Amino acid sequence: MANKTISLDNQLYDYLLSVSLREPEILFQLREETARHPKANMQIAPEQGQFMALLVQLLGAKKALELGVFTGYSALRIALALPPKGQLIACDVSEEFTQVARRYWQAAGVDHKINLRLAPALETLDQLLANGEANTFDFAFIDADKDNYSYYYEKLLQLIRPGGLIAIDNVLWSGRVAQPDIQDQQTVILREFNQQLQEDDRIFLSLVPIGDGLTLAFKQ
Ligand code: CA
Repeated sequence: MANKTISLDNQLYDYLLSVSLREPEILFQLREETARHPKANMQIAPEQGQFMALLVQLLGAKKALELGVFTGYSALRIALALPPKGQLIACDVSEEFTQVARRYWQAAGVDHKINLRLAPALETLDQLLANGEANTFDFAFIDADKDNYSYYYEKLLQLIRPGGLIAIDNVLWSGRVAQPDIQDQQTVILREFNQQLQEDDRIFLSLVPIGDGLTLAFKQ
């Protein structure tokens, strides 16, 4: 069937990785360490990281933002894809999780490209806007608390330049968004968020079924 996105069973997924994944050793090590973490499911899939690195390069991005760092895998992927003077502002509230991140960023030699802001992300975004940095960012990745997704998105839409991209993680929420009987708060929020973007004509939109679902919102 060519008119529908293919389903990946384990065998096909392993094949996909075997012929396409290019993961630097340091990222592999970070992924291994994170796999032993009690919240390991917050780590993005390696092929998703590689895809986002490609997007960062495609955009020629110099300024990037990440909301939700965890142990730093996606931030490291992005930082490695940025040019030597590129900058990633990485927002998180956990000192504990980001300690792991900082250790790997340093080992990879990209810590000078990453500006970690340990504060609620909305505060950091407001500061950037107050600093006059609207329309200056090339790329943003939202992977933080789902409750604030709409608020993050609106602020990022101001901070991103026209022709810049916002990537939003977990929009398929393990398939729960498509099951009407599931009505917990996070699922409902994500469902409403997805609907909101579908109707938003400020962006070009694509929902890519990679990882747990990655929406690409390209600012017009
Ligand atoms: Ca995620």
